[in-house]
Amino acid sequence: MVKSQNLLTEVESKALLKKAGIPIVEAKLARSKKEAISISNEMGFPVVLKISSTDVVHKSDSGGVKLGLANATQAGKAYSEILSSIKRAYPQAQIDGVSVQPMAAPGVEVIVGMSKDPQFGPVLMFGLGGILVEVLKDVSFRIVPVTARDAKAMIREIKGYPVLEGYRGQKPASIPALEKLIVKVSQFVEKNPQIRELDLNPIFAYSDKAVAVDARIILE
Ligand code: ADP
Ligand code: MG
Repeated sequence: MVKSQNLLTEVESKALLKKAGIPIVEAKLARSKKEAISISNEMGFPVVLKISSTDVVHKSDSGGVKLGLANATQAGKAYSEILSSIKRAYPQAQIDGVSVQPMAAPGVEVIVGMSKDPQFGPVLMFGLGGILVEVLKDVSFRIVPVTARDAKAMIREIKGYPVLEGYRGQKPASIPALEKLIVKVSQFVEKNPQIRELDLNPIFAYSDKAVAVDARIILE
């Protein structure tokens, strides 16, 4: 268990991002199975349920994420399964509950992150999500503040750029939407120096918009 005292949950992180005008898939905290079902019913199916605990940094590693839940029965079952896997993997974890969010349509997965360099201060990172970033480290960096011009260059710089332009019938991702999102993240971290680290992983990019489906903020 990676204990990070200053970790905000996904629900808390997304609330801050939303206030800053950064597009996110809204997540609501459910503290019981009953609440998870009623929130799912309100949101409309399919939904996604995820563990909400500051003691669990990587939610899907230990069965803490259930995708594509089609109805109340599946949502209720997912709630119980998530709690039992997490309690098994992290018996000491303090659990807030489970977050409920709409299941986003598939898009091109990209990531935006911020970390602090001892010399340069906050630095933004952009890359393609999933295996491309983990294995190939195909990412670009810029020091905050990142202007619209910087954001444009940073997106075009990655080797995987053609993936964003669409390939094998896959729809292209909106580059302007990604540029806008990067600039907004830069403004957000500039205004909030108490943020030590930020991770939007993944962001789903579509032909007309880009939305963060997962968010993690660590405070100083
Ligand atoms: P982790 O803490 O493991 O990073 P994520 O919230 O990123 O957990 O969820 C794991 C994966 O599940 C994501 O990389 C994404 O592919 C998928 N996912 C998460 N949330 C959604 C959502 N709301 N809609 C569709 N897919 C999602
Ligand atoms: Mg994630």
